[in-house]
Amino acid sequence: ESRVDADLVEGLNPPQREAVTYRGKALLIVAGAGSGKTRVLTHRIASLLRTREAWPSQILAITFTNKAAGEMRERVEQLIGDRARGMWISTFHSACVRILRREAEQFGFTRAFTIYDSGDSRALIKRLVKEHEADAFGLTPAAVQSKISKLKNELADAESYARQANMSDPAERVFVEVFGDYQRALQRANAFDFDDLIAQTVYLFRAFPTVADVYRRRFRHILVDEYQDTNHAQYALIHELTRPPGADAEPVDGGGGMMIWDAEPAEGDAASLTVVGDSDQSIYAFRGADIRNISEFERDFPGAKVVLLEQNYRSTQNILSAANAVIGNNFDRKEKKLWTDVGAGEQIVGFTGYSQHDEAQFVADEIERLHRDGLDYSQIAVFYRTNSQSRALEEIFIRAALPYKIMGGTKFYERAEIKDALAYLIAVANPADEMAVRRILNKPRRGIGEVTATAIARYAADEQITFRDALANASALGVGPKIQAAITQLDAVIAEASDLMLPRSGEIAPPTVVAEGLQLLLNRSGYSDALRASRDPQDEARLENLDELVAVAREFARNNPEGTVIDFLTEVALVADADDLDDASGSVSLMTLHTAKGLEYDAVFLTGVEEDLIPHRISAGEPGGPQEERRLFYVGITRARKRLYLSLAMTRAQFGEVTVAMPSRFLQEIPAELLHWRQSPGDVNSRGGTRSRALNSRGGSSRGGGGGRYGDDLAPLGRREPKAGLEKFTNRIPSKVRDNGDMVLAPGDRIRHDDFGEGRIDTLTGEGAKRVAHVRFDAVGPKKLLVKIAPIEKI
Ligand code: ATP
Ligand code: MG
Repeated sequence: ESRVDADLVEGLNPPQREAVTYRGKALLIVAGAGSGKTRVLTHRIASLLRTREAWPSQILAITFTNKAAGEMRERVEQLIGDRARGMWISTFHSACVRILRREAEQFGFTRAFTIYDSGDSRALIKRLVKEHEADAFGLTPAAVQSKISKLKNELADAESYARQANMSDPAERVFVEVFGDYQRALQRANAFDFDDLIAQTVYLFRAFPTVADVYRRRFRHILVDEYQDTNHAQYALIHELTRPPGADAEPVDGGGGMMIWDAEPAEGDAASLTVVGDSDQSIYAFRGADIRNISEFERDFPGAKVVLLEQNYRSTQNILSAANAVIGNNFDRKEKKLWTDVGAGEQIVGFTGYSQHDEAQFVADEIERLHRDGLDYSQIAVFYRTNSQSRALEEIFIRAALPYKIMGGTKFYERAEIKDALAYLIAVANPADEMAVRRILNKPRRGIGEVTATAIARYAADEQITFRDALANASALGVGPKIQAAITQLDAVIAEASDLMLPRSGEIAPPTVVAEGLQLLLNRSGYSDALRASRDPQDEARLENLDELVAVAREFARNNPEGTVIDFLTEVALVADADDLDDASGSVSLMTLHTAKGLEYDAVFLTGVEEDLIPHRISAGEPGGPQEERRLFYVGITRARKRLYLSLAMTRAQFGEVTVAMPSRFLQEIPAELLHWRQSPGDVNSRGGTRSRALNSRGGSSRGGGGGRYGDDLAPLGRREPKAGLEKFTNRIPSKVRDNGDMVLAPGDRIRHDDFGEGRIDTLTGEGAKRVAHVRFDAVGPKKLLVKIAPIEKI
């Protein structure tokens, strides 16, 4: 500790200090939500820099979102000032893009490569599925896309997959062909899809050990936040980077001018690795994240130091107790209990609306009340399980003139006009990207159809030039004079913009003219004019969106004086996938539970706490699904610092139909005394469930009560008086969550339970609603289940 200045460990608790000052090769920090994991990482970086044990350029810190990266950088700068410049603090994807931009030439790409977002790869896959008539084998574009993504996350390519697949199955054969063609098409287009960014960097390191060594020598300290959500490819990347340099190659000298630290590490000295994570917050298994990366860390990195943190600094005890109780229902976890010394705090507030609009109205009113009481909008967040749930909230918020901002998964970059504009930029930056050039051929309408596009593609193939270069030879395409003129005009526009935006030989830094170039493309191509001339009111909004994009480009230029059009496209591609460019200052943040990871707010509204939403109905049938949903719920709860609201609606227009919604089973897992079911926003202090619409409030009686603006004379969820014995338990289960009726079971039957997996019935006792099955589960051993309501089925 002597080497670390006091202010960097001041206020940290002993295990936090230990994590900041430990100087061994491998350090694992495991701890529950809000225990200061991210804070420890930040202080650790600051202390490495302050003591001059590391130069900024020797630090690689990986965060889960761009936003988190920005916050971490800011914090480090606050702690140690300017000296922080030059660190790599970024997401896995951003770090890999930076590496690939430098090294792409090594393996057949150029540094101008395009990044395909999931919409782009979907479009490409759709075309290939059609070409191969793969749908005849039940292969939908969506299914192919998700399978390819999964394979890439496991570092499998088409060839390696083919080697172990059952190739006598025609569907498998077609899939392998589509996968292979997809990869070749990406390569031809000088493009990487999102999963490639990681996987191809791993391939690069494995195929070119001297290249890998450059980065192994450069990054002496690697720190990874949210390690529980790394997938296999990301794990492999970390492994590659933490191997001793020179281990599998002749040492390289310098390596592209990257050796900028003065004390060169000894040959064979591996970088130090610090990872932090919480297996209770692993919520990306569906994207290939593997909790084992945490549980097996000590095996992977022998001699690793493990630090546990248990004190929570974020939330009140009530919120923590609810979180502990909920997550305690997951059976395959290590027990850990979070505690805090900030006191019990407010009760958690529950609310049931008639409809999702009623629910949204409650949220809006309550936010206004909090705001009037002095809470800044930016300290308030509203979470939901699926993106589509935001619509009802937005409608009400707009009507209430509540400032809000949707975080993450922003649809802005998915809009057709934005995609068109970006395709114009890509045509300039990466002319090899045929899909981008094809996209703008007839936008605005120029009379260039599919037939002409095919003629251009054929000509390009014959002449062995790119699709974009073929545009320059319109006269050779055998198309009519009008179309020929249109193609020539488009070619001229792209050429003019290229002159403006691309570096001329001899220049070191390309001019920063992205915004200008974008405007030139939109004007000269006639794209903006076509929208202006339109009578469709939507087109006016489209024009505004394009203005917004130009504004984003200007902002980019201000922040990145040396930034090129490629840098701009990179930023847009990465932002579009993960999170938002702007911050949400002055507005309420709306986001999905997945996006909420790592964040914290004074007040949190967790909405749509219903069966089929959380746990989501798709996950319910998947192995481990309900447990992952519970972790997601846990992540949501633990974002709240002082106030937590759990709300639901009795009916919901969802999946194309209006359905009667059932309260989530997770509500039942929260001890009743922590949760106060609210009638109306005015009903702040009525503890104990008076006029209760309560689900599980204890004590008090259901008086009905009336007149609230949410129609509160309903006891929608059928409160019953507590009874003794088992009834006490059944009483806490929302009556309609599960009703197996008179399911017939016999000793010896095998069953499957949503959470516990498969098991065998030993005996059955009791009758009717109290019939209990004594089951021996394969994974978790003996359990007693109430047959009527347990989430079980016979198998
Ligand atoms: P999550 O699991 O949600 O990512 P985390 O473990 O990364 O949480 P942090 O975000 O680092 O937790 O910390 C939670 C909050 O507690 C932050 O506001 C942080 O500044 C604060 N905090 C952490 N440690 C301390 C401490 N020793 N003293 C005071 N505040 C602290
Ligand atoms: Mg964190």
